[in-house]
Amino acid sequence: MLNIAGIETFYGPSQALFGVDLYVAAGEMVALMGRNGMGKTTTIRSLFGLTPAASGTIEFESRDLRKLPSYRIARLGLGLVPEGRRCFPNLTVRENLIATARPGQWDLMQVERLFPRLAERAQQSAQTLSGGEQQMLAIGRALMTNPRLLVLDEATEGLAPVIRKEIWAAIHTLKQQGQSTLIVDKSLSELLPLVDRCTILEKGRTAWSGLPGELDEGIRDRYLGV
Ligand code: ATP
Repeated sequence: MLNIAGIETFYGPSQALFGVDLYVAAGEMVALMGRNGMGKTTTIRSLFGLTPAASGTIEFESRDLRKLPSYRIARLGLGLVPEGRRCFPNLTVRENLIATARPGQWDLMQVERLFPRLAERAQQSAQTLSGGEQQMLAIGRALMTNPRLLVLDEATEGLAPVIRKEIWAAIHTLKQQGQSTLIVDKSLSELLPLVDRCTILEKGRTAWSGLPGELDEGIRDRYLGV
């Protein structure tokens, strides 16, 4: 479904990616891992054309994304939940959800079933939500676009344990429903039982890819340890 090969990406003169390879098959949940600053967010920004890759290939369902503007990429069926969420603060929760709706499996009822808190707070303005509830709203908004591939960047970062649990439960549901997902998260204990494959970045390069069961202590120490 998604095939990224050898991408190199720059911020002005400074190179952040030096050859990232990443593959997601339809129905898979894939973890993109690595220590801070290794290029996870930049890879996602390149995928969505926000910081376009200077070289390499990004193919989504056999279409070349590299020359497309971000809105076209989204329209092809990629849904992003960016780091630090981002909802419309003055719209209500329900208005936020409806604003991005496109026809498909996910509608208001399904999303509110996945996150009952969003139903309870439907008429509140988004800015009155807690950080965790805003994160749920951000995921809900992305689902409302009925993305063929959902991309979650640090969706549970910095949240209270109760809320983190609810979000992981929702991600489990997504997995059961066969939602293709690329997920960046630091919580290995939650991530590893859930994902089909892992890709680890080191200094802007794909350093390792494999099954979660193959990610042994040596690899963890080498690429993920602090
Ligand atoms: P984190 O887990 O901290 O979010 P990350 O793996 O997502 O890290 P990136 O944010 O992609 O890493 O950063 C990769 C490299 O690009 C780092 O060296 C970072 O300093 C650099 N970088 C990121 N954003 C910018 C920017 N806007 N301008 C210049 N350099 C940047």
